[in-house]
Amino acid sequence: MSALNCPSCGAGVSPDGSASYVVCDYCGVSISVAEFFKEGSTNTLQYFADAGLSEEETKAIARLSENAMLFIEASDYRKAKQTFEQILTLAPSHLPSRFNLALCELYSGEGSPLERAKASVNLSKVSAKDHQMIPQIFAQKESIAYNIASIGFKQENVFDAINFFQLSLSLVDRHTERDKLIADFFAGILQKCKKTMDNEFASKGKKYSPNRTFLEILQAGAPYCSDLADLGATLLFYARDFPAAINNKIKECLTTLQQIVLQYCRNELTRIQFGILGGIKMTSANNAELTRLTFP
Ligand SMILES: [Zn+2]
Repeated sequence: MSALNCPSCGAGVSPDGSASYVVCDYCGVSISVAEFFKEGSTNTLQYFADAGLSEEETKAIARLSENAMLFIEASDYRKAKQTFEQILTLAPSHLPSRFNLALCELYSGEGSPLERAKASVNLSKVSAKDHQMIPQIFAQKESIAYNIASIGFKQENVFDAINFFQLSLSLVDRHTERDKLIADFFAGILQKCKKTMDNEFASKGKKYSPNRTFLEILQAGAPYCSDLADLGATLLFYARDFPAAINNKIKECLTTLQQIVLQYCRNELTRIQFGILGGIKMTSANNAELTRLTFP
């Protein structure tokens, strides 16, 4: 395995050859180590014959492929990219070169991580179905998806993270390790949101009005994490029970939050109640009650 550049910060990363994942020493992003795919000769020759390429063109492609691999060995992803682009000019539907190009784009260190992720995903969107790909080629696609999600996992801002997650999900529906990254990310967000709400209720009681960013985080996170949707439901019950506390600007956002929460929350929900002495009690509520709530 040649040296890689971290898709997030561009630092050189040296996989020891045994692990499928390495962690960047500089930024902590976890990287799926997909081998750049080297052509197996029989398949490739057949492919180019089927594509109607002449022997001369096929030889040219073989030479270009060798060059590209040498550039990758030298971690020169910019030159490798140019070489794969040349191959694709000759053979536009050649999947291995396309995914190799997409990997180079991700590792090249040019542009912001989000720009590189977008370019990489665009290059990887091919008409071939996943099951039609040989495992090594599919592994490249999964690796791109994992690495993009991994950059998202390290984002400070939820909305930035979601941009990466959406790109990753648009490429590969399901991938155990990638899905775990996303779930872990939202588990962290859930803890922060719960803490915010606990603190607000403890200090302000029935006078708490959530701010806009808080609503937006619940709304954006609900599709990825039903606990966040459930928390949104608790907030909606509270807003309906204590409307006087809620800022007018926030009231306008509640119907939208309700629509989104209803798509992702569970059936068993919780409602907050305040005791006479200011104590807080959680009581149970359900999905149907949430459906019936109306907001002005
Ligand atoms: Zn890094």
